[in-house]
Amino acid sequence: MFDKSSIENYVADILCSLPPHVLLVAAAKTRTPEEVQAAIRAGIKIIGYNYVQEAERMRRVIGDAVEWHMIGHLQRNKVNKAVSLFDMIETLDSEQLAELVDKRCALEGKIMPVLVEINSGEESNKTGVLPDDVDALVREISGLSHIRIQGLMTMGPRFGNPEDARPYFKATKAAFDRLSKANIPNVEMRYLSMGMSNSYRIAIEEGANIVRIGTKLFGERPA
Ligand SMILES: *Cc1c(COP(=O)(O)O)cnc(C)c1O
Repeated sequence: MFDKSSIENYVADILCSLPPHVLLVAAAKTRTPEEVQAAIRAGIKIIGYNYVQEAERMRRVIGDAVEWHMIGHLQRNKVNKAVSLFDMIETLDSEQLAELVDKRCALEGKIMPVLVEINSGEESNKTGVLPDDVDALVREISGLSHIRIQGLMTMGPRFGNPEDARPYFKATKAAFDRLSKANIPNVEMRYLSMGMSNSYRIAIEEGANIVRIGTKLFGERPA
């Protein structure tokens, strides 16, 4: 049930509890414009969407007052729209996708900040580059002039006990530090996006500086 005052309270509570260097992305899938607006009133500056079409609809209502991050798997046939809609794509996971985004950005005269998504749990049902392949992918796409690689993102396996997610966050941070030290031209390891409602505290302990939170801001999603 939509309740703006509780959303405003949830957002305020989380914002207060985050260390100042950590950015909060409101994962807004399935939420109404009223709910998203309540979150923005309470201080949300970045909205994350999993689907281009849903983001497009919401952006028509909300406009440019906030930043828009793509946090779901980007389908190739949605790249053009995604390039014009989003301020960051957190889920780049293949050379082919990077090339498509780069090409479209060149046409639009835009440079897209991107994060490379790692499938840290090596789960067959999840997208993201496998941990062993991330360095090669970053090197391969680092020459593209219309994307800016700014870090890594991971979902990690979902556990009842979020402590169980810690090793996957640790491994992703290790890749982040390794790529950082590698000093690859055009690559800046600046953002590490990991942690959701049940795991964000642990993710921050392991080095996340972007957390993506839905349920804890907006309440449970309808089944
Ligand atoms: C839905 C979603 C989140 C937030 O999940 P919650 O458990 O609702 O906080 C974070 N990241 C991605 C990619 C998501 O799809």
